[in-house]
Amino acid sequence: MPEQPPPENRPSDPDCPLCGATLTYVETAITSGAFRTQAAAMPQMPIHFYDCADCGTCWKLGQRLLPDPIRQLVRDLASGGESARTDI
Ligand SMILES: [Zn+2]
Repeated sequence: MPEQPPPENRPSDPDCPLCGATLTYVETAITSGAFRTQAAAMPQMPIHFYDCADCGTCWKLGQRLLPDPIRQLVRDLASGGESARTDI
């Protein structure tokens, strides 16, 4: 299913480290990816955000694929709502 046009140099969608499903691209943010003292010498680095449609885990891909606890929390709050999840 076509999503928003991918930004330049975006890698192909990675697989979910937890369940192996192909992750769904969400958006890309640009950050220095470095500590402040190093920022001037570091190139701006894009961070690609992904969601897993199978297990619902949020990921971010910078230098490596890592869990995204912030978006995970937002997602859980948004999907929790009034009806409690039954798979906990
Ligand atoms: Zn998954």
